[in-house]
Amino acid sequence: IEESEKFRIEYWELEEAKLRRMPAPKPLATRVALITGAGSGIGKAIAQRLAAEGACVVVADLDAASGAAVAEQLGGPDKAVAVTVDVTEEAQIQAAFDAAVLAFGGVDLVVNNAGISISKPLLETTAADWDLQHGIMARGSFLVSREAARVMTQQGLGGDIVYIASKNGVFAGPNNIAYGATKADQAHQVRLLAAELGEHGIRVNGINPDGVVRGSGIFAGGWGAKRAAVYGVEEEKLGEFYAQRTLLKREVLPENVANAVFALTGGDLTHTTGLHIPVDAGVAAAFLR
Ligand code: NAD
Repeated sequence: IEESEKFRIEYWELEEAKLRRMPAPKPLATRVALITGAGSGIGKAIAQRLAAEGACVVVADLDAASGAAVAEQLGGPDKAVAVTVDVTEEAQIQAAFDAAVLAFGGVDLVVNNAGISISKPLLETTAADWDLQHGIMARGSFLVSREAARVMTQQGLGGDIVYIASKNGVFAGPNNIAYGATKADQAHQVRLLAAELGEHGIRVNGINPDGVVRGSGIFAGGWGAKRAAVYGVEEEKLGEFYAQRTLLKREVLPENVANAVFALTGGDLTHTTGLHIPVDAGVAAAFLR
């Protein structure tokens, strides 16, 4: 008994020592944020919000032109730089982080947002569809998080990793095997990385937007049209139609998701990690739709 008591005391002394070493989160105005897929939609809205709060932003997108346009809009090289990166390519991810360190001296906040949406019935989903979807969102966000962890642990200042996951990773619906499964993969990455990186002061959280966010590329790229056909409404009325089916009777827009990223990383949620915040006007809570 004495031995185990001694072990317990030593263990907790060690834990307390770790806690004392734990850095407090840096204010957002002193942080550097790298956002994948920030050339469009939700990622662009996140870049705009974090820049407005004073963060320096690295717009990391596969589409060089849209990435450059967003960086320019955010105030140019002193405030934002664009790096062209395919999140399926390890070397390109490493180069993007190198560019961020070169431009702004470090990386404190990373948002895994880049994505595509392959939503097809099971029997029409090919192995290539599966690989493409998982390559970008499951494997890609793993690679980005690994690089983020490498840079952040070297800096020793803690940090934030945020996944733009989805309600579709928690709740099931038809015609969504590839996209839904990859969002579930991302959801568990959040928990696994929170468990592994917590002792470095790195918090890992996710946001689950509602399944329809107008003003985003995934919506415009066919998802909206498909949903409109399923529900028998005109595409331009879909936002309103969805809003009526939420608890708050509100449509979810990219800026609402960006506000949640700010709440998680720029405010007082300093003791929150491994969590997913729904930004869905109550859809998931009430099991609607
Ligand atoms: P979007 O198409 O507007 O933006 C996605 C961006 O990712 C684009 O700029 C694209 O160039 C970039 N991208 C694609 N493949 C890439 C790659 N291999 N490497 C780097 N960048 C790449 O999409 P969005 O609707 O704003 O979606 C953003 C995220 O939000 C996605 O992860 C999506 O799954 C998630 N989400 C969207 C909705 C929605 O309704 N739109 C709902 C829930 C979750």
